[in-house]
Amino acid sequence: MFKFPDQTVGIVAIQGDYEKHRHAVEACGASARYVKVPEDLEGCGRVIIPGGESTTVGQLMQRFGLADALIEKVAAGLPVWGTCMGMIMMAKDIESRPDQFSLGILDVSVRRNAFGPQVHSFEAPVKVNGLPKPIMAVFIRAPIVTRVGPGVNVIAEVEGQVIAVRQGNLLGTSFHPELTDDRHMHQWFLSI
Ligand code: GLN
Repeated sequence: MFKFPDQTVGIVAIQGDYEKHRHAVEACGASARYVKVPEDLEGCGRVIIPGGESTTVGQLMQRFGLADALIEKVAAGLPVWGTCMGMIMMAKDIESRPDQFSLGILDVSVRRNAFGPQVHSFEAPVKVNGLPKPIMAVFIRAPIVTRVGPGVNVIAEVEGQVIAVRQGNLLGTSFHPELTDDRHMHQWFLSI
């Protein structure tokens, strides 16, 4: 397995499953730091925004000043990966929710809770471009990507829907790799 000893990964720890990401990052040999306020970002070589509840986290990220700090650092090249709620937070547009705050750093439109209210959660094997073999992807009230901008590459689909994208140093996935023991997505993000 690769080792990433020189990396500190900031994990946005306002609400959601940030602990699981910490375990995954540490299992890859990198160090993790919880991030709530702009000062926490100092020294972080990359940032993960976990799954959770996007309305709550959006409001608190603004209140804590973390939203502006992240937008600024992304413009300077900081790699950021959002899983599920994290991808919603990164998106430029949230379908049918024009008033909901998002960082607007990833040039996509997303639709929240897109797999139907009756299917809150499911697993599916997914082939992600860039990974050596399919991974088991866990979807929990997951969003889909409904529009991709010109600089955005689709890297995975399920049921004909876009569920993972990459735009330069930015990665968005509808699913939760932190909830399985497969560390390939984390290793890949650490190598970006
Ligand atoms: N449904 C949540 C939202 O729209 C996201 C769910 C998740 O992150 N697992 O904010």
